[in-house]
Amino acid sequence: MQNLHIKRPQEPKQASQYRGRFAPSPSGLLHFGSLISALASFLDAKSFINDNGQQGKWLIRIEDIDPPREQQGASTAILTSLEAYGLHWDETELYQSDQSQYYRDILANLAQQELSYFCQCTRAQIKSIGGIYQGHCRRVNHPEKNSAIRLVNHYGLHQFDDIFQGSVVCDQALANEDFIIHRKDGLFAYQLAVVADDIAQGITHVVRGCDLLEPTARQLTLFQTLNNSFLKCNTPLFGHIPLAITSDGYKLSKQNKAPAIDNDKPQPALIAALKFLGQSPVAELTSASVEEIIQWAINHWQRSLVPNTVEINID
Ligand code: GLU
Ligand code: ZN
Repeated sequence: MQNLHIKRPQEPKQASQYRGRFAPSPSGLLHFGSLISALASFLDAKSFINDNGQQGKWLIRIEDIDPPREQQGASTAILTSLEAYGLHWDETELYQSDQSQYYRDILANLAQQELSYFCQCTRAQIKSIGGIYQGHCRRVNHPEKNSAIRLVNHYGLHQFDDIFQGSVVCDQALANEDFIIHRKDGLFAYQLAVVADDIAQGITHVVRGCDLLEPTARQLTLFQTLNNSFLKCNTPLFGHIPLAITSDGYKLSKQNKAPAIDNDKPQPALIAALKFLGQSPVAELTSASVEEIIQWAINHWQRSLVPNTVEINID
């Protein structure tokens, strides 16, 4: 008979970890909107202290997988701005352009497990059936040439608890879609690369702008699909901060030619970004150094003060 009273050695208590990240695309320089995302993800990581007294880590990933949209020199300029704003990162920055083999391996594994398929439907065809892809090519068996690759979506996850926004419910039909993980033009899809690299970098918390609320549903499904098939991983927690929009309703973005932040005068922009994030920077900070502002912000960061709205007008 089996002895059920075996005394197991005490396992060392694993300290909880925080690994956050900022993942800019080098399609332009940092503007006020991206500064807010960078600052929020940085502060949420750096204000976290685990049981062993260690501060959270904050990593950088340059999402340079879309060469036609890349702006020459933007990656370096973004990193220079982050340094000027006192947002120093941990570990070596990851470039998605170095990750192709890893993405290809994931695609090959998904295909082998029949969790993906080739699709040749055009945008116009999908539009004509109401804009939501209905899995038409799942049974067609298209050749690879001129095809996109779609994920077989078994989960359709569409609800999650957001660190700042509370319970978020995404559009169920959109969340159920077999979405594209490799594009017809040969580029890896954002959904694939972002999830693959959040796994590769061991990310535990994703803090970013509300423009990425809807894609989160798909990313949750992809995490679940990978974890249940061949790539053990933990799904990170997600937190989405409001978007800065101008009075005419446009979000600040590289596409809208939002002005780049000024590397020579970081203090006023940092204080404005803190206010945008609902924090209450004290008056003395107006004459403080970048390091002092950042240290104050880490010490006083309060998630509960971040507005739980999707956008805020900054004009
Ligand atoms: N690279 C994306 C962007 O610049 C952000 C991706 C993410 O934070 O998940 O909008
Ligand atoms: Zn199709």
